[in-house]
Amino acid sequence: MLRVGINGYGTIGKRVADAVRSQPDMTVAGVAKRTPNYEAQVARDRGFPLYAADDRGHRFEAAGLDVHGDVRDLVGASDVVVDATPSGVGAQNRSIYEELGTPAIYQGGEDPDVAPVSFNARANYGDARDADAARVVSCNTTGLSRLLAPLREACGVRKVRATLVRRGGDPAQTGRGPINDTVPDPVSIPSHHGPDLQTIFPDIDVDTMGMKVPATLMHTHALTITLDGDPSARAVRDLLAEESRVLVVPEHLGIDGAGKLTDYTGDAGRPRGDVWENCVWAESITCRDGPGGTDLSLFQAIHQEADVVPENVDAVRAVADMADRETSVRRTNEALGVGSGLVTHEPSRVADAADD
Ligand code: NAD
Repeated sequence: MLRVGINGYGTIGKRVADAVRSQPDMTVAGVAKRTPNYEAQVARDRGFPLYAADDRGHRFEAAGLDVHGDVRDLVGASDVVVDATPSGVGAQNRSIYEELGTPAIYQGGEDPDVAPVSFNARANYGDARDADAARVVSCNTTGLSRLLAPLREACGVRKVRATLVRRGGDPAQTGRGPINDTVPDPVSIPSHHGPDLQTIFPDIDVDTMGMKVPATLMHTHALTITLDGDPSARAVRDLLAEESRVLVVPEHLGIDGAGKLTDYTGDAGRPRGDVWENCVWAESITCRDGPGGTDLSLFQAIHQEADVVPENVDAVRAVADMADRETSVRRTNEALGVGSGLVTHEPSRVADAADD
C-alpha cells in the first residue's frame, strides 16, 4: 500500500484524504493542518493521524487533539505527499519535500514552475510518471482539459474561446464575494486560465475571459470551440458521453443550473454532494459552420471543490509510477464512484427522435 500524506486539510485536502482512503492500493499516512478547527475534529474522528503545521502542536493538544508530529514528520512517514495548503504555501513547502526526497503533488493555486509537470489525467498522465512532482491544474483548467482532450483527438481544435463565470467563494468561505455584483475578474484579457490551459496543451490557441458572481456552488463555462472536423452536435454529444469524467446532462432531468445539479448529486448519495465530473448540458451542444471551421458551442458546470479530487489520486499513482493511465483512471473512478450512480442517458424515445 502506498502511504500518502496530505498537507493541508481544507476544502481540497479533506476530499483528497477520503478519496485516497477509498483506493485499494493507497493508505492515508496522515493529514497536516494549521488550525485545530472542526475539520481537524473530523480528521481525528475518521482516524487520520493528525500532524500540526508551523510548530502549532500545542494548540491541537489544547483542543484535545493528539498530534503525531509536524509537517516534516508527516512527509517522512509518506511515500508521496499531496500539498493542499492555500495558494502560495505549497511553494514554500517545496524545500521540505525535496530535502526528504518525497514526491509531491501540488494544486492549481501554485505557479506552474512549482513542479516539472502540470497534470490532467485525461490529457497528459504519462508526462508525470515517475516525476519528482506534479501540479494538478486548477478546477477550471481541469474542466477545460477534460473537454478539449477528446475533441482534439477526434476532430482537431483550432481555437478555443471561453467565458468562465466563476463562483465568488466556496460555500464555507464566508469572507469572499462579491455579494451583490457581477465582476470581470480579471478585467484584463485573457484571464490567467488561458495560459494555464497551455501548460497542458502548449500549442492550443485559447482566449479566456473571467467573471466572479455571487454564487458558491459551481463555476459555469460558456464555450465556443472551433474544430477542424465537421461533426454533428449528436456526434459531439456521443463523444463526450464516452468520457468517464464528463457527465452529459440529459434534458429530461430538468436540471437548469448548479443548484439542481448539486441537489441531484446529494440526493444520489454522493459524499458532500460532490460532482467529480464536468457537467455539460446536452441541449446546449450546438455545431454551426463558422469562418474558420465548425464552431462547437456549449455550457458546462464545474464543481470547484470536487473535480480535481480524482485527478489528485491519479497524479499520486503517476508520480509513484504505479499504473498506466487507463488502469489508474478506472481504479480511481471505481473506488470513488466517478461516472456512476447518475442518469446520463436519454430515454430511448427522446434519443430516437433526436436521431431523426
Ligand atoms: P483551504 O483554505 O480550504 O484549505 C487549506 C488548508 O491548509 C487548511 O486546512 C489550512 O488549515 C491548511 N494550512 C494553512 N497553512 C498551512 C501550512 N502552512 N501548512 C499546512 N497546512 C496549512 O484551501 P483549498 O480551497 O482547499 O485550496 C487548496 C489549494 O487547492 C489551493 O492551491 C487552491 O488554489 C487549490 N484549489 C482550490 C479549489 C477550491 O475551489 N477550493 C479548487 C481547485 C484547486
